[in-house]
Amino acid sequence: MPPSTDCWYKRVVHEKEKETTEREEEEEDKSSDEGLLLQAHHAMERMEEFVHKMWEGRWRVIPHDVLPDWLKDNDFLLHGHRPPMPSFRACFKSIFRIHTETGNIWTHLLGCLFFLCLGIVYMFRPNMSFVAPFQEKIVIGAFFLGAILCLSFSWLFHTVYCHSEGVSRVFSKLDYSGIAFLIMGSFVPWLYYSFYCSPQPCFIYLIVVCILGIAAITVSQCDFFATPQYRGVRAGVFVGLGLSGVIPTLHFMISEGFLRATTMGQMGWLFLMAVLYITGACLYAARIPERFFPGKCDIWFHSHQLFHILVVAGAFVHFHGVSNLQEFRYTAGGGCAEEGGV
Ligand SMILES: [Zn+2]
Repeated sequence: MPPSTDCWYKRVVHEKEKETTEREEEEEDKSSDEGLLLQAHHAMERMEEFVHKMWEGRWRVIPHDVLPDWLKDNDFLLHGHRPPMPSFRACFKSIFRIHTETGNIWTHLLGCLFFLCLGIVYMFRPNMSFVAPFQEKIVIGAFFLGAILCLSFSWLFHTVYCHSEGVSRVFSKLDYSGIAFLIMGSFVPWLYYSFYCSPQPCFIYLIVVCILGIAAITVSQCDFFATPQYRGVRAGVFVGLGLSGVIPTLHFMISEGFLRATTMGQMGWLFLMAVLYITGACLYAARIPERFFPGKCDIWFHSHQLFHILVVAGAFVHFHGVSNLQEFRYTAGGGCAEEGGV
């Protein structure tokens, strides 16, 4: 058991011990010293059993103010928190219980299964629906890989977050890295189809987004990055990584013209995707709506849950845009010379 969790349990055990001692002091007249010792011993045994059962699923949600510091993340969620549970079995069983993380876990667990099924169906599409089946399945596969990694790291993090300080720290780093994977994976098919006839800028933009993505993953490994004070910085880093797509977008618009960019280039869907992601990041950073209704959004509709839903919606909108780009390329054929565009 890590030291902080150990301390928390020691405190709970100590408080129960104190209660037992006080009760026993009142009954001092009735019992002999020996009887008291026996009772205290039984009380301790019951407490140990209680702690054990808590790990094994017989736990109750607790208010924010009694959480150990490492579990205190959002002080607008007043009640409904899981206590520290240093057992992976208990953490995974808590997926089926109602608490502050239930919505966070299920939004990305279901999202992950959805993209996994969609990815499998897409990869098994007949090769005759593609101009270059192998290459295209790899670039679209990069998007699915990014989405599945992001969503699975996320639901896993929210599931084991209450295990212990060490486990929560490791999984939060994976969770943040997953967002960078989703963004990098989303760029791959979009750049491939948008710059189909200009491999050089396509390659340069890909390298740039990979460097920026690796930089975001590197900064996510710092312990301070996961702290509540850095909530705004975290949102900023990932919004910034996503917004690096503005430069290739402008490049595409200048070369193709606004009309072709919105029709052939699917800019409308990409714009909607950006709006969904940025709205999610703003709600996350500002902790809206729970900021205005502390204690009213403890279980449902708090900012992190809304952010999760918007991430899944944004990824789906991106997939829709990319599959339209793929369809356009299929209809236009593999040739470039006659188009004269990017
Ligand atoms: Zn999350």
